[in-house]
Amino acid sequence: MPDTFPSNIYTSHIPGKGRGLFTSHAIEAGELVFLLDRPLLCVPSNRHLDETCYHCFLWLPQNTPKFEDDTRRLQGCMGCKVVKYCSKSCQSRSWAGYHKFECKILGRLYPQVPPSLVRMVMQLLLRKKADALSHSEWNDFLRTVDHVDRLKKDSTKGGLSHDRWHDVQLMSQAAHRYSGTHESLILVQSMMARSLVNSMTVTDGTGSTLGTCLSTSAALLNHSCNPSCVFIFSGASLSIRSLRPIPANAELTISYTDITKPTHRRQLDLRSMYYFNCTCEYCTNNLTCGLPDVPTALEKGLSSAKILDLEAEGERLQSLAGDATPANKIKLLDQAMELFVPYKDIYPVWRHPWPSIRDEVRLLHWNLDHWSVATVHALKAYFFIDPMLYSNAWHPVRIQRVFVMFKLIRELQYQIFVSPDDGGDRVEGDLKKYNIQWLSVNKGLEEEIEAAIPKGFGTESSFAEEYRRLPKSESPEKWGMRVDWVGERAKLERAAREIAN
Ligand SMILES: [Zn+2]
Ligand SMILES: [Zn+2]
Ligand SMILES: [Zn+2]
Repeated sequence: MPDTFPSNIYTSHIPGKGRGLFTSHAIEAGELVFLLDRPLLCVPSNRHLDETCYHCFLWLPQNTPKFEDDTRRLQGCMGCKVVKYCSKSCQSRSWAGYHKFECKILGRLYPQVPPSLVRMVMQLLLRKKADALSHSEWNDFLRTVDHVDRLKKDSTKGGLSHDRWHDVQLMSQAAHRYSGTHESLILVQSMMARSLVNSMTVTDGTGSTLGTCLSTSAALLNHSCNPSCVFIFSGASLSIRSLRPIPANAELTISYTDITKPTHRRQLDLRSMYYFNCTCEYCTNNLTCGLPDVPTALEKGLSSAKILDLEAEGERLQSLAGDATPANKIKLLDQAMELFVPYKDIYPVWRHPWPSIRDEVRLLHWNLDHWSVATVHALKAYFFIDPMLYSNAWHPVRIQRVFVMFKLIRELQYQIFVSPDDGGDRVEGDLKKYNIQWLSVNKGLEEEIEAAIPKGFGTESSFAEEYRRLPKSESPEKWGMRVDWVGERAKLERAAREIAN
């Protein structure tokens, strides 16, 4: 299916913004606006090549939770040994569409694997050379912005930010050489710049990054910090869904950056990555997800310099933790969490960068099999952070996060069940005091996820499929208990408030 949109969607020029996408008829909240079966270019990241189907992006990670019992396997391509497939049909579609042009080259380079952007541009060059790219596909690609002048200008400033033009040059040389193309290096550089500036991150149903994609039609969507639409991947297929009612002839927008950061940080990200000044209503009014960047209590309690310091120090520790050994990671992330604790009455738990630090703490403890600690942090986000940042109860990001917590809680129960007396991690005892009926919790979360799927993801999405594939939790009635989600929810909320910082 070509990388294009349905007839009710049209492009139009917006003064000062370039082209944008508009809808000719009104759209309801939670509707599918358009779907691309497989955008022009989709490549798994190097880290995920081993665990992801190269064509449909089915991700089968090596360490799945123990209760999941997944029997699906990937088969490697015998030609290059670099890519893997979930099925014969994925393999043959991939071969016919693009892999036959690159397989030999990837095989020759193996065990070295070029970075995803290099593989992406190389594939495009090879498809063009083999006449396996239509004129409209190529022209649409060339109509995307490349920002080459800005990239070059930035690189002459030196020192300030990461030199992206230098990366573009290096990667272009690689794509040029490996592909054996007759196109000029200048053209390849502009292709690389377009791929860098217009590509989107492919994520799975739980929000984990799997790879990179470039869709020439989705690239026409402009940014807003209060976007009317959201993009979701189902494997390699990309859908654009509405987040609220959109009137006829209104522009469709998505967000290019992390909208949970305060205005000054979003503006910085957008300027340095995409070279524009956002003038959306949230930026104009200093709002983050509709909430004041600096709530009144915080404004009264701390100077703006102190707030900036806290943000910067939190981000610094977080990025240090990113490269640290597991033992140091815990120390650094704990330190980052501790920064905000003295101000917890005025610094909201939902305010950047506290939530993302908490997410990393949760993930780390989960990986270390500290299920109760991880659960308590997930609950804190579920009750006190996510509803603030994503007011829409069916917002796909919010539901992805409920799904992740649901899996975590199932794993916690599994561990309590298989080794009830090992004492667990340091908060397992605290959590026990709340006498939570986990089977009711499972049912309650299942209901929440099921209710949100039609609007947030669509019933045919791979998220819905992944959810349905998970073994359903046992019914409490089977054990003579009744489901009391409201009562259990109240206990969980109390636990989250009292145990987690
Ligand atoms: Zn597949
Ligand atoms: Zn191959
Ligand atoms: Zn904005």
